[in-house]
Amino acid sequence: MENESPIYSGKAKSLYRTANPGEMLMKFRDDITAFDGGKKDTLSGKGSRNAAVSSYFFRLLEKNGIRTHFLRMESENTMIVRALRMIPLEVIVRNIAAGSLVRNYPFKEGTVLKPPVIVIDFKDDTKHDPMLNDDIILALGVLDRASLTRLKQFARRINTVLSRDLKKKGIKLVDFKLEFGFAGEDILVGDEISMDSMRLWDEKTNESLDKDVYRFDKGDVLSTYRSVTGRILPCENDHRNT
Ligand code: 5GP
Repeated sequence: MENESPIYSGKAKSLYRTANPGEMLMKFRDDITAFDGGKKDTLSGKGSRNAAVSSYFFRLLEKNGIRTHFLRMESENTMIVRALRMIPLEVIVRNIAAGSLVRNYPFKEGTVLKPPVIVIDFKDDTKHDPMLNDDIILALGVLDRASLTRLKQFARRINTVLSRDLKKKGIKLVDFKLEFGFAGEDILVGDEISMDSMRLWDEKTNESLDKDVYRFDKGDVLSTYRSVTGRILPCENDHRNT
């Protein structure tokens, strides 16, 4: 695999073909970026933490009857996933006002959103992932109405499962981003669910435990990722030193 070129390389992950056309290898690299790639670094050991947390959440979702592209881990930073026809949408679930919601609308940071707010962005970095509404999604032909309804139902169920699990670990799930893809007619969760795609706050201190530490220079990103991985993964403290 190392000698092959990826069929897709994003800002922090690369996808490779495998001998089986129905499966792909997803490598979590040590690269970290923010602000549409305006800020970039490489942090040794970051990829394996995101891979471990993603695989934990994918397994948790599967146990709760939600299908994902996850098949198995291949190594610390690579997973074998089902090949999907990806839907070019970012589905963001927000439980607490933060980030772009606070920047763009008159919400006070930290306001609890009940019910949770679902925001759908068009996945296109060149256009800075513009926010969509149902009519635009339907007019673009990205999804039909039934699939859009299913997507939102999945997002709400996933939010319930993840929020409940994180609460047990003293962590608030502020918001997170999901991507989905089709396997035939079925819609599966794809991409990753990690510190790069979630906003996590410590329940007691509201300290950031996610990529905001990198975005806004709030501290040592790698030690945050290391300690939050240890809190999220059951019975499996993260003993690595890197
Ligand atoms: P915001 O819209 O506040 O910037 O982001 C909301 C949530 O979605 C955050 O948890 C953020 O990490 C995640 N998110 C939004 N856009 C992206 C993206 O393009 N890539 C990743 N990895 N996460 C995103």
